[in-house]
Amino acid sequence: MSDGISKGHRVSFDDALAIVRHVAPPLPAVEIPLQRAHGAVLARDVVAFADYPRFDMSAMDGFALSSQSTETASDAAPLFIPINGQSFAGRAPVGPLGDGWTITTGAPIPPGCDTVLPRERATIADLAGLLHLRLTSPLPVDANIRRRAEDAAAGETVARSGQRVRAEMIGALRCCGVTQVRVAEMPKVTVFSTGDELIGLDGSIIDEGVHDSNSSMIVAQVREAGAQATLASQLPDDAASIANAIRAMSAKRSHIIISTGGVSVGERDYVPAALEACGATIHFHGVYMRPGKPVLFASLPDGTLFFGLPGNPVAAYLGFRFFAYAALRSMVGLAPEVGLEIDVEAPRHAEVTRFLRVRSTFSSCGPRVELLSEQQSHRMRPLLAANAWLAMPPQRDLSRKPIIYPLSCLGVR
Ligand code: AMP
Ligand code: MG
Repeated sequence: MSDGISKGHRVSFDDALAIVRHVAPPLPAVEIPLQRAHGAVLARDVVAFADYPRFDMSAMDGFALSSQSTETASDAAPLFIPINGQSFAGRAPVGPLGDGWTITTGAPIPPGCDTVLPRERATIADLAGLLHLRLTSPLPVDANIRRRAEDAAAGETVARSGQRVRAEMIGALRCCGVTQVRVAEMPKVTVFSTGDELIGLDGSIIDEGVHDSNSSMIVAQVREAGAQATLASQLPDDAASIANAIRAMSAKRSHIIISTGGVSVGERDYVPAALEACGATIHFHGVYMRPGKPVLFASLPDGTLFFGLPGNPVAAYLGFRFFAYAALRSMVGLAPEVGLEIDVEAPRHAEVTRFLRVRSTFSSCGPRVELLSEQQSHRMRPLLAANAWLAMPPQRDLSRKPIIYPLSCLGVR
């Protein structure tokens, strides 16, 4: 090949994704406290431990009554009902049967009551020092009452295996008293950057230097993808140093190691040689896509997965976004990501899938995309204006439609 990446290891975008999914192993399930499960993926359905609501309770601050006792109320013949009971949130109701009860939101509905009159709609009359509700119309049954178990009954399935634990799920499960969940073990990812030119966060500035954006960015992507990230030291363009570092990292039991830079065919691109020295199996090296062409995927002898991402920041971002993310999804038991096919005119390349930065919006006629003007692979700022990728299949796949994907692993924003 003119670009020197061995032809045998070069694959289409779709084949690359399929290979990643095939190779990435599902991780074992573990039982953990719910509050530590944020971002993990459920490995078992979760059932409600308790009813939610746990008992019939008031939805308003106001007065609890028996609706039947209000049936005869009218403008012509107002009813006066004494307020003698109290039911406050977190306490048992105290008071006589049959009268009106002062009640707060979340407090138990007192015995004999089946309706709540909100405080702001109540008229209170003082009759000889005793407070009474003055009613001029009957109150409907069940008004302003949250019924026991109306959201979830104990034993009912509330969340399903294969769902990602998000904040709203933690809230819904805690409402039902759940404290523990079974989730896929959270993948651990070690990230390092390579390049003699890199200026680290605390490194000295050299005239020919380039700020290392990739390592911080990829660590953030790992977290967005719901995995644990460790940032390892930046490495020089030197095969032996890179090989030694990879050996040390895989011994520390990361599930995935990710490098950036040094993976193409330049004079000083040493990641492939370092992997060879470590005895790695290369699954692919080079994907028919742009940006991101030099991306490499390998397994180390101990089973650790390795992604060699290109140094170009946009290519590194894309490499993680699609390939490392596909591996992480398959490890935690999530179904493969599916993009949205869309009819849109954009230039196709003869043989590579082009990834274009776009803004997508939904109109009444369906999804629309606006191509951003700056598409060069080193330009990062356009990513801040984009919210999606448009994958344009190559010309030789003219029957394939363009597909849009959310920009990041966080999904649609
Ligand atoms: P490489 O893949 O090593 O040939 O690098 C391709 C381009 O990406 C070069 O312009 C590098 O200086 C740049 N580059 C490599 N690594 C990084 C990094 N960690 N952060 C920002 N730019 C980088
Ligand atoms: Mg380099």
